[in-house]
Amino acid sequence: MQEVQGIYPFLAQPKKVVITMHQKPDGDAMGSALALYHFLKSAGHSATVISPTNWASFLNWMPGCGEVIDFEKKGEQARQLVSEAEIIFCLDFNVMHRTKHMENILLEADCIKVLIDHHQQPQEEAFTFGVSNVSKSSTCEMVYDFIMHSPYAESLNLDIAACIYTGIMTDTGSFRFASTTASVHRAVAHLKDLGLNHSVIHDNIYDNMSENRLHFLGNALLNRLEVLYEYNTALMVIPKKDLLKFDIKTGDTEGLVNFLLTLEGMKMGALLIDRDEERKWSFRSKGDFDVNIFARAHFEGGGHKNAAGGRSSEGIDYNIDKFKTVLQQYENQLQ
Ligand code: 5GP
Ligand code: MN
Repeated sequence: MQEVQGIYPFLAQPKKVVITMHQKPDGDAMGSALALYHFLKSAGHSATVISPTNWASFLNWMPGCGEVIDFEKKGEQARQLVSEAEIIFCLDFNVMHRTKHMENILLEADCIKVLIDHHQQPQEEAFTFGVSNVSKSSTCEMVYDFIMHSPYAESLNLDIAACIYTGIMTDTGSFRFASTTASVHRAVAHLKDLGLNHSVIHDNIYDNMSENRLHFLGNALLNRLEVLYEYNTALMVIPKKDLLKFDIKTGDTEGLVNFLLTLEGMKMGALLIDRDEERKWSFRSKGDFDVNIFARAHFEGGGHKNAAGGRSSEGIDYNIDKFKTVLQQYENQLQ
C-alpha cells in the first residue's frame, strides 16, 4: 500500500469511482462515504456509494443517503458498478471480510483501491494507496484531512461538512473519548465557520427514538444487565425475544453498550445480542484494558483499544459461559 497522496494525480481527470464501507454502516462509515461522494462529484467524477447491507434509519437524513445502493437489495447493479469502477475507496474498515458478501468482488476487482481507515491491523496488500491511522478519532476526520490536503480543498461545502461532522460526533461519543484531539476541535471549528448547524445533526442522530426503542432500552437496563464486580465488568445479553417484542430494527441497539461504562468503576462493558445469523458482541473499555486484543483472541473480532466488536456462530449460553471463563484470565488487568 502506497501513501494516500498518490491518488491525487488520478483525480485530475474525471473517473468512475465506487465508495464502500463496512456492513451495517454507522455514522462514521456513512458520513465518510457520503462526504467523499460529494467531494468527488463536485470535482466532476462519477461516484456511487455502495453499502454492503442496510443501515439505521437515523442516517437517512444525510445528504446523498437516498442515492446509496444497498448491495443486498441491488446486487446486480452494484456488481456492474464495481466491475466498471476505475477507483474503489474503502472507508472505515480495513479487512475485506467486513463488507460481508462484497468481500470477493472487492478482492477480485481489477482497479485502484484506496483505503482510508482508523482501525488496527489493516490488510495492506489489498490496497493500492491508503492511509491507516489508529490515532485518528474517526474516518470522517481522515476524509476531512484527505480533502484539505488535496488540490481541491476549496470544494468543501456544507453537505460535506454535515457528513464529516456526523462521523466525528458519533465516533468520539460527542467529543468525549480520548481520541478527541485539538485537531478534531480545529476541524470542527472550520466546519462551523462554513456554516455548519451542529445542533440539528445531534437531534437527527440522537433525538429520534421510537417509543418501542425507549421501552427496549428500559427493559435492557432493568432486566438484561449483570454486573461482575470482581472484574469491574458490566455484561448485557439481549435475547432474540426482546428484539421481536420491541420490534427492534437495524441501528436500534446502537449506543446501548455505552450505558455499561456509565456504571461507576467499570473498566469493561460487554454487550451480546442474539442476531438471526450470529451472536454479535460489542466491547467497550476505559483506560488500558485493550478490547481489540480481547475480541481478537476470543470472539473473532477486533476494532480499537477501547471499542471493539466480535461474533460467534455458537448460541447465547455458550457465549456467556465462554465470556465468563476467559474473563478470569484478565482479572488483574481489570482491577
Ligand atoms: P461496535 O461494537 O460498535 O459494533 O464496534 C466497535 C468497533 O469495533 C467499531 O470500530 C467496529 O468497526 C469494530 N468492529 C465491530 N465488529 C467487528 C468485527 O467483527 N471485526 C473487527 N475487526 N472489527 C469490528
Ligand atoms: Mn469509525
